[in-house]
Amino acid sequence: MRVAVFDTKPYDRQYLQAHKEVQWLFHEFRLGRETVRTSEGAGCVCVFVNDRVDAETIRCLRQYGVKLIALRCAGFNNVDLKAAQAAGIPVVRVPAYSPYAVAEHAVALLLALNRKIHRAYNRVREHNFALTGLVGFDLHGKTVGIVGTGKIGRIAAEIFRGFGTRVLAYDPFPQTTWAAEKGIEYVPMSDLLVRSDIVSLHVPLTPETFHFLNTERFNQMKPGAYLINTSRGKLIDTVALIDSLKSGHLGGVALDVYEEEEGVFFEDLSGQVLLDDELSRLLTFPNVLVTSHQAFLTHEALTEIARVTAANIVHLEKGEPFEPGTLLQPQ
Ligand code: NAD
Repeated sequence: MRVAVFDTKPYDRQYLQAHKEVQWLFHEFRLGRETVRTSEGAGCVCVFVNDRVDAETIRCLRQYGVKLIALRCAGFNNVDLKAAQAAGIPVVRVPAYSPYAVAEHAVALLLALNRKIHRAYNRVREHNFALTGLVGFDLHGKTVGIVGTGKIGRIAAEIFRGFGTRVLAYDPFPQTTWAAEKGIEYVPMSDLLVRSDIVSLHVPLTPETFHFLNTERFNQMKPGAYLINTSRGKLIDTVALIDSLKSGHLGGVALDVYEEEEGVFFEDLSGQVLLDDELSRLLTFPNVLVTSHQAFLTHEALTEIARVTAANIVHLEKGEPFEPGTLLQPQ
């Protein structure tokens, strides 16, 4: 089966191409209304986090005879599942390619930001061996608030427990046995914000979690608190975040995702004028560290993404059930 793969980079191609049972047709551009025409003749489209698979795009996919939308990621907020169901096109994702990759990146961001590793690296390269301005804090004894204790949040919580931190958690569906075993305390969201020195977001983006952190919630956070977001950019109201940083209320912010990352993250824009004023402003803060949606980017995760995606395409061709837990249904 021919599979049109959108928004691809060399690392995507390397791992997908290992599956020779599928005929991959790689595109660097993203799928959306403007590009959907290129799906003509493909049995399947394979998309990533910033492809826009809205109702109009799905209508065209159906017209072109596309039989499967395969997300090579876990989050699916960019696909209109109701429209896909109405069009009779199944949507599959890779629900858990490596929760360790994302949880470990969240911790890596916090360690780098707190201990100013990124600044120290640049200084030492310039033969500036001074330590002024590089003071961090011990994680041991601090309180970490994990928002969302799904696959990634639970691993992040356990890693943080290893540092000797107290871990608070909030989730509408608490995992009470796990929490008791790991010494983790579920609390209401407002308590988590008031009590945590570090808050890490691990919730999906849904209509309910859009701008989950806004001015009111930033004000509830401890003065000097650190915030980590490796989940989805739109969980945070960026304007409110910038205000909180400017006022000196937040101590540090580490972001792997950004509200308007589409068209910016994953691209080499060096040498170009950055047109996004809010991202530009965020990059000026010495206590903000941004990576470009790379938390998933490990060998293990890319291997698993390619394996599950190829397997689901083969299953479709053979009329077999999809890999367990990968088929999405509208809620
Ligand atoms: P998951 O489905 O296993 O867990 C999500 C958890 O969030 C669930 O326990 C759910 O009950 C909880 N939740 C839902 N709404 C909530 C709310 N309003 N408040 C608190 N908790 C809420 O998902 P996961 O595999 O742990 O992934 C979490 C998110 O991480 C994904 O949705 C995705 O957006 C993001 N992600 C990012 C990257 C990256 O590269 N940066 C990679 C993979 C996933």
